[in-house]
Amino acid sequence: MNAAAGTLWYLPGSFGIARILGPPYSLRCVLFHDVSDTESAFTKGLNGTITRKNFEQALKFLTKHYTPVSLQDVLAGFDGRALPSRPVLVTFDDGYASVSEVAAPLCSKFGVPAVVFVNAACLDNRQLALDNLICYVTNVFGLDTINAAIRAVKNCAGFEIHSLTEVFARFLPSISLQARKSFRDSLLQSVRISESDLAAEASLYLSSQQLRDLAAFDFDIGDHTYTHVNCRVLTDEFAEEIDRNRAILELVSGKKVRPFSVPYGSSADLTGDLLNHLQKSGYEAIFLAEGRANSPRTDRCRLNRVSIRAGNDAALFSEIEVLPRLRTARSLLFGAANRQPCRRNSGIEKAGQPSPPFTSRGNAGMGAELPRANSET
Ligand SMILES: [Zn+2]
Repeated sequence: MNAAAGTLWYLPGSFGIARILGPPYSLRCVLFHDVSDTESAFTKGLNGTITRKNFEQALKFLTKHYTPVSLQDVLAGFDGRALPSRPVLVTFDDGYASVSEVAAPLCSKFGVPAVVFVNAACLDNRQLALDNLICYVTNVFGLDTINAAIRAVKNCAGFEIHSLTEVFARFLPSISLQARKSFRDSLLQSVRISESDLAAEASLYLSSQQLRDLAAFDFDIGDHTYTHVNCRVLTDEFAEEIDRNRAILELVSGKKVRPFSVPYGSSADLTGDLLNHLQKSGYEAIFLAEGRANSPRTDRCRLNRVSIRAGNDAALFSEIEVLPRLRTARSLLFGAANRQPCRRNSGIEKAGQPSPPFTSRGNAGMGAELPRANSET
């Protein structure tokens, strides 16, 4: 599908052709994770690494065919200010150090603003994110060790996984936060290396200084939960995972944290309780990563993003312009979207509580739509 969609790039009027493949497409949001020429045992298999060359090629493509916008531009768009033609927002999830070391200088070179979403538990490599730990154990010790750790967790004894994908798609979303912690402890016991040593060896994540430097530069800082959890399992842990993360990031970066990115990017994790919490807490934009197109009617609490790894224009065109439209058209046709509509403030506020920023700016409430870009949609 990707290759077939990419052939459209070589046809005259390729952007016009793409427009007829799906509903109107307003803000393009692209998502990166690690920008590195090599994958380590901690990242191999996660499909989150893009080479420096491909990242630079992506920035060239974005600046040539789109208009990079900042988070502030996007938020102003919800207040009624028109977005430029073919607007694109660049984002990074998981707070990899390579965002500071490799990506930010290139963003600066091309004049591209960005947002980096960070898990504060991993700042300064104090801790290894569970995803990277699972990846490491799988690559070094094999899936049997993963299954042994699963069996050691209470109420998970009957669970067996056969691939790394299954761990993330089936196992993790199905267990409680407590079981997740037990699973993590079990994995750490099996590798027989202290967590701090393992995290230091990996050296994957931003330091506090790097976060401050990014914030002082043209980067917004976003909340991605404290330990990168599947938010669907959160019950009364919003303070622990979300509020604490934001407080630390604001303290360290000196910058207000306004957006939230749902770990793993699935709308299934953006539960009604989570949405209410984020809105009450004043988050100004919420991002998913299901690879769908944002239409002019997309509201700020469900902005979709497309993961980018390609290194040539045809594949980038397919990933950014064609496939999101086809996915959106498919979900509209088959009713795959299981969304809870964003509610205006009357639905979420209790008497005496302040209005969240979603609703506090003019008449652009949470349900406010992205303005149609000036020309191309
Ligand atoms: Zn993430």
